[in-house]
Amino acid sequence: MPEYTMTTKYLSLQHAMSQGTGKVSVRGWVHRERGSNKLKFIVLRDASSTIQCVFERQNFEKSWEEIDHLQIETSLELTGEIKKDARAPTGYEIAVQSYQLIGPSENYPLTKDQSIEFLADNRHLWLRSRKMTAILKIRSTIFAAIDDYFTKEGFYEYHSPIFQAVQCEGGSELFSVDYFGKKDVFLSQSWQLYAEPAIFALEKIYTIAPSFRAEKSKTSRHLTEYWHAEMEMAWSTFEDIMDHGEQLIKHVVKKVLETNAEELKLLERDVKKLEPVVKKPFVRMTYTEALKILKDKCKMKVEWGKDLRTIEEEKLTHLYDVPIICTRYPKKVKAFYMMEDPKNSEVVLGCDFLAPEGNGEIIGGSQREHDLEKIKNRLREQGEDPAQYGFYLDTRRYGSVPHGGFGLGVERLVKWICGLESIKDAIAFPRTMERYKP
Ligand code: ATP
Ligand code: MG
Repeated sequence: MPEYTMTTKYLSLQHAMSQGTGKVSVRGWVHRERGSNKLKFIVLRDASSTIQCVFERQNFEKSWEEIDHLQIETSLELTGEIKKDARAPTGYEIAVQSYQLIGPSENYPLTKDQSIEFLADNRHLWLRSRKMTAILKIRSTIFAAIDDYFTKEGFYEYHSPIFQAVQCEGGSELFSVDYFGKKDVFLSQSWQLYAEPAIFALEKIYTIAPSFRAEKSKTSRHLTEYWHAEMEMAWSTFEDIMDHGEQLIKHVVKKVLETNAEELKLLERDVKKLEPVVKKPFVRMTYTEALKILKDKCKMKVEWGKDLRTIEEEKLTHLYDVPIICTRYPKKVKAFYMMEDPKNSEVVLGCDFLAPEGNGEIIGGSQREHDLEKIKNRLREQGEDPAQYGFYLDTRRYGSVPHGGFGLGVERLVKWICGLESIKDAIAFPRTMERYKP
């Protein structure tokens, strides 16, 4: 928990409670308030926790009017005696001896039981809620855990441009930008095509950066702007890519369980559902095996060659308590850069990680096709002109090596780990087809 190391005077509420007795100075915002003629109770909130504070009128006769009118979200600094109090919401109470009002707050617009729409319009204020605070803390743990996983594994952090002149994941989901009158510039859907050139310098690289997709579908797992954790490595095998994905997710879930027990509790997340993810190996199956399981166990018939839909992914993930790594999809449904399986030219060495409890795809990865002629053919098969991929194809011209990588949607991971209904709550200011404000 943060202690305020820049200023020694003020303790975080968490720290004040762990001190437990004696005089403390704290600061924060009024979370709740109630009062009588003689007493005023406020629940003070800061980033770390909340605590009940009580003002006795006899000690504050001159400023009673101000204290009596303290409203929700007013910011305060105060000093007082802290002690255990079983009746207080977090088990402690501060008897206030002095205080300073820092920023007044009148008629705070958010009250109980407001519609999702209203909360979305007031997202800038809703961020202060205990729920959003808990999610944002878990999100912060996840970002740090992704960084330390890749650093520990010897990957370099590498950055690709956001303005891009090539497309990676299909034209219909591109956002084009008016770039000084030029129209062939798009917002990045993935770093991949600009990451592959860099493995010839750094070999093992990763990033966490925004990706943009013009998603026209309104689902609980698509945003138009999301944070994408991507890795790419030279000399990899397909197994290396899957192993890193599995180890990364295990590491992240373990970190959250260690760091955020309190936040998970506040979100009423059943941590028993996350524990197997750390302890047990993930389930690996091929696309063809997945179709058989769907048919036998879920009574769902999918024609070979069709991509798995959300509904099918959902059904599959309910059968296991760990993520599924589904591999070897039909070539037709996957991107041009995925390598053909040397044992079966109908399928590619691609893998989707499907998160449990109906969450579905969180990672998409593959071994990349590193042969120049084959990748040109794949582009042509998909109706693309290889000439448009000049710089990218140079990666296959000068010292091409086997390589692969994956992309993880960080908000999808946050949604699953926090047990959220919608991906929109996994980011501070969600961007969707319908919402780009505030
Ligand atoms: P989906 O089929 O669910 O749209 P995709 O196949 O388009 O996913 P990829 O292109 O493989 O996804 O992108 C890699 C990862 O990025 C996905 O596994 C997912 O976690 C994440 N992702 C993709 N699109 C979105 C989106 N619109 N919003 C949030 N995360 C996304
Ligand atoms: Mg998609």
